[in-house]
Amino acid sequence: MNQEAYDDDRDLAQEGMVFNVQKYSVHDGPGIRTIVFLKGCSLRCRWCSNPESQNTAPELAWNEGRCIGIEKCGHCLEACDKGALTPGADGKPALQREKCGDCAQSCAATCPSQGLLIYGRRRTAGDVLNAVEQDMAFYSRSGGGMTLSGGEPLLQYDFAVALLRQARLRRMKTAIETCGMAPEANIRAAAPWLSYALFDIKHMDAATHKEQTGVENTRILANFRILAEEFPTLPILARTPVIPGFNDTPEAIEAIAGFIKPYERVRYEMLPYHRLGTQKYHFLHREPPMGEVTLEKSRMPRLQRIALDILGERVQIPR
Ligand code: SF4
Ligand code: SF4
Repeated sequence: MNQEAYDDDRDLAQEGMVFNVQKYSVHDGPGIRTIVFLKGCSLRCRWCSNPESQNTAPELAWNEGRCIGIEKCGHCLEACDKGALTPGADGKPALQREKCGDCAQSCAATCPSQGLLIYGRRRTAGDVLNAVEQDMAFYSRSGGGMTLSGGEPLLQYDFAVALLRQARLRRMKTAIETCGMAPEANIRAAAPWLSYALFDIKHMDAATHKEQTGVENTRILANFRILAEEFPTLPILARTPVIPGFNDTPEAIEAIAGFIKPYERVRYEMLPYHRLGTQKYHFLHREPPMGEVTLEKSRMPRLQRIALDILGERVQIPR
């Protein structure tokens, strides 16, 4: 573990922007886990299924289907002093985004049905850890623990490291889901507090990577090498979201598997594109960048065979 000086009280008082704490997950690391979702990411992947994670600031979501109507309720209209909510023709509030200040404790705090909801709340590391710690019994029986996700958790570096460090000091196992886009010093400083790393490798071609995610992959690949070479006891799962028109080709998967191959302890998983985040784009009044595109069913088995040929039993098939 990192021997650098740290201060427990300062760690626990660290504040960060969290948009969800999801319990009983079995997909993001070993065993039963609690996933802490941090807001903010430097990438803008067109297929992102957590659009509410991308911006660092809180954002108002409008889920019209849950609103019980102004006649029965209407609390939000009184709460908004910006004139962003007005009575709509359908008996529900009409939201004018251009006037909305995404003010965290206003209309959403008065809404009884989560028709209006704020994504993102400032929380201390101590508060988050107390929530995560409630499920210690499940972690110890299943080999699970806490996973930091996002967004990119290392964008809120001080908060993320405080969470990881204090979780380890409470004898909890820790994991991170990272896109790898972070200063190399931050990767090196976070790694000693990790029990497991889930690291996205999306494409090996820098220009294609930039076109679809907004950034080149140079820093990401360098950070992957740092984790794989300098932290030999850290289990790593490299993951590729398989995206139609981006990396759903034999060439793209061959290149990624070839990059991973020399790191014998790294396992590999491909995750098929899904459209589960589409509704959240609408709640934020954003168009889903991928539109109606879907992944052909026959693609995954073909691409998995390619990865299996190169990496053998290191390939993990998603549950
Ligand atoms: S978030 Fe604030 S500004 Fe936006 S609608 Fe609600 S109360 Fe009005
Ligand atoms: S507070 Fe919520 S349920 Fe009530 S009118 Fe506003 S959006 Fe609808």
